Amino acid sequence: MALLITDECINCDVCEPVCPNGAISMGPDIYEIDPPKCTECVGHFDTPQCVEVCPVACIPKDPAHPETHQQLLGSFWFCRKECDVNVIVSCVGRVGKHQAHYSLAQHLLYSLHLLDLMKKDG
Ligand code: SF4
Ligand code: SF4
Repeated sequence: MALLITDECINCDVCEPVCPNGAISMGPDIYEIDPPKCTECVGHFDTPQCVEVCPVACIPKDPAHPETHQQLLGSFWFCRKECDVNVIVSCVGRVGKHQAHYSLAQHLLYSLHLLDLMKKDG
């Protein structure tokens, strides 16, 4: 589940630089969180860093964006490792003679990486 900044925000600026995903930015009136970018810090830290630093405790979970831990981990992986996976896949793709092989290899490698990360995360 992504987090949400409520209108109790006092625009103190301390949460923006601690977000590892660049999900926080200044909105028209107060700071805002871009839900697709917020992984609740899963994959980076044990706790949401913006919540840790906010002096007025105005960053609850956003009920409009419910996600399981595994989904958050998948988002982290997709954002952070997509480039690495694409490099590997492009190498495998050159070996394959047909586009179908390339696509199959892409899915296989991506699944293996996700499984590996999930195992490590416990
Ligand atoms: S919980 Fe983490 S990823 Fe989400 S907005 Fe806060 S600092 Fe960024
Ligand atoms: S830390 Fe809290 S009060 Fe400060 S800008 Fe972020 S959400 Fe607003």
